[in-house]
Amino acid sequence: MRDIPVLYIVIPCYNEANTLPVTAPLFLNKIQELIERNLVQDSSRILFVDDGSKDDTWQIISTLAKNNKYFAGIAQSRNRGHQNAVLAGLMESKDKCDITISIDCDGQDDLNAMNEMVKKYLEGFDVVYGVRNDRSSDTFFKRFTAEAFYKLLRVMGVEVVFNHADYRLLSARVAEELGNFKEVNIYLRGMIPLIGFSSTEVYYERHERMAGKSHYPLTKMLELALNGITSLSIKPIRIISSIGLGVSALSFLMIIWTFVRYFQHQTVPGWASTLDIICLMGGLQLICLGVLGEYIGKIYMETKDRPRYIISKRTDNMEENNELDK
Ligand code: UDP
Ligand code: MG
Repeated sequence: MRDIPVLYIVIPCYNEANTLPVTAPLFLNKIQELIERNLVQDSSRILFVDDGSKDDTWQIISTLAKNNKYFAGIAQSRNRGHQNAVLAGLMESKDKCDITISIDCDGQDDLNAMNEMVKKYLEGFDVVYGVRNDRSSDTFFKRFTAEAFYKLLRVMGVEVVFNHADYRLLSARVAEELGNFKEVNIYLRGMIPLIGFSSTEVYYERHERMAGKSHYPLTKMLELALNGITSLSIKPIRIISSIGLGVSALSFLMIIWTFVRYFQHQTVPGWASTLDIICLMGGLQLICLGVLGEYIGKIYMETKDRPRYIISKRTDNMEENNELDK
């Protein structure tokens, strides 16, 4: 059995001023319960990461941190998206704790799964994935697109845990290794399995959002999906190369056939078919260029090597380590 760990619960928040007053007490109850049950140490903390919110989220976080030692907060200098907010929280806490659990702030993911997660850590696991065993509270559209997306990722050779979002426990050494993955386009669900170490799963029911509203409209979901594939797999390039090869081989055969017919004085009639092929080829080429462009764009963004998050504010209890991290 491992020693009782110090836990940091990392919670990204974007415009959640309506949600935090509802869910913060639940996080507090949970951490106190974990401490009472001797599963985590008293120096454990609930770390909110304000992802450049435009409402009163930061004021709420700093008031919480002033009034209760278990709350802490950092703020990103502007909105960078959920994945970067989680990463900022993990990098900020990894040296202060033995384990982190990342979870959304809206209470959709069952907090009680944390007990099981910590127990799994004590048994020796370094990564514990929270997996939803029931998505009936999500809309049909969300379930359908999520399912299609997981399947697509698998086909593209990206290893992901089915029905796992970003609710997971990481030991500090896994978080440390994650810090060595320097890509700017991050997709944590696909990156964590690449780190390795022993992992397991804990199942829980996903609820409705307790307050506020979702920040993941279709466009953001598509962006995350595209990022998941193009950041972690080059299969789409291979697929278009194969399609290109197939279409070229077919066209070559057609050219030979046209010539044969010509020398037999039976010219193949029709402009329509010619045009069809030209359009088809044009379309295919544009798609291929698009896919290539997507990767070139990624390379362009990666070569800039910009910081993935910039922390602009910290609550007092997070102040020890306050140079601008990368
Ligand atoms: N979030 C964030 N930055 C963003 C968008 C969302 O930190 O740009 C946070 C948000 O506050 C929440 C979590 O990420 O804690 C998940 O977002 P949301 O609940 O809106 O997504 P859904 O659960 O509907 O997919
Ligand atoms: Mg949510």
